Amino acid sequence: MATVSLKNIGKVYEGGVRAVDNANIEIEDQEFVVFVGPSGCGKSTTLRMIAGLEDITEGDLYIDGKRVNDIPPKDRDIAMVFQNYALYPHMTVYDNMAFGLKIRKFNKEDIKKRVDQAAKILDIEELLDRKPKALSGGQRQRVAVGRAIVRQPKVFLFDEPLSNLDAKLRVQMRAEISSLHHRLNATMIYVTHDQVEAMTMADKIVVLKDGIIQQIGSPLELYNDPANRFVAGFIGSPPMNFLTVEVTEAGGKVFIDEGNFKLAVPEEQGRQLKDYVGKQVVFGIRPEDMDYLEEEKKNESIKATVGVIEPLGAEIHVYVDTGTHQSIARVSPNVSLNVGQEVFLYPHLEKAVFFDMETELAIGREARKQS
Ligand code: ADP
Repeated sequence: MATVSLKNIGKVYEGGVRAVDNANIEIEDQEFVVFVGPSGCGKSTTLRMIAGLEDITEGDLYIDGKRVNDIPPKDRDIAMVFQNYALYPHMTVYDNMAFGLKIRKFNKEDIKKRVDQAAKILDIEELLDRKPKALSGGQRQRVAVGRAIVRQPKVFLFDEPLSNLDAKLRVQMRAEISSLHHRLNATMIYVTHDQVEAMTMADKIVVLKDGIIQQIGSPLELYNDPANRFVAGFIGSPPMNFLTVEVTEAGGKVFIDEGNFKLAVPEEQGRQLKDYVGKQVVFGIRPEDMDYLEEEKKNESIKATVGVIEPLGAEIHVYVDTGTHQSIARVSPNVSLNVGQEVFLYPHLEKAVFFDMETELAIGREARKQS
């Protein structure tokens, strides 16, 4: 198995489209790394450069310490699983899985050993004689993964492999790929636009936007300590709420003032916001970090009007309006709410993240890291 290292990697397509800009990523042996971001952010391009399917315009790519920029895909010892798994329709499952080994001139016995072993790992042993059209979507996807496994590559690359499956199957296959990662102890790089896939599968997530890496970290690092407003809004569902507030100071205390509510900020956050007194910042608070209150708490609660109520069984998502901002809160299913009702929400400000209005960077991150 292998490490993968991207040093100052960039990609400019013919015609001048810059798809990736100065990407630096260190992928450790046996790590499961997910590239995530909205459509067009450059994640597939990055993956395809690692695979050797796209030329690298700038920078150096290393697999296991060896520079591979000019090494053709077939010699990079990687295997890729695509979104449209493109099985050969006229071949059996066995032959689909064996095909890549046959063209690499493996002998029959080795091929059989590898295909049988992969079929066992994927629990598709009974399907080996079937043709793809006699398989369900999930089974086809397993065969596509099997084709990669038989190669015993140094690195597995997955390009949105679950996008064509229905929601339930996607959840199941997600767990299967995670469990496969543990069994094979392989280095895996996985591309998706779905932050839930990223959060549930990754050891390490790389968040991309407009070809630029926004943050690299473990799922919980990104959730608890987003580097900027984009990452904060992208990771977590329902997404973090963002409210524009003014930072004020009175009697040695720091407040955030939205116009319709004013909150006293805990000491720690107050220190971080010191430089912003008299200025506006973006106040970020996750829906799960706001509690429903029966009554107002002066300088601690937000008064809002209930707009939309989404009962999900285990919890309720409530869209509320403060007069200047729309926000979402997650409240207990036992709370009885009506549209138009006035409510009070208690934000856990120690969990809040504040962002600079211009740079959109999280405020006080460096100080937090050092403490
Ligand atoms: P993602 O996988 O995140 O959706 P891509 O890596 O496919 O994004 O694309 C990144 C950017 O590069 C987009 O702006 C896209 O339009 C552009 N792009 C992708 N492939 C090509 C190509 N072959 N020629 C020109 N531009 C491309």
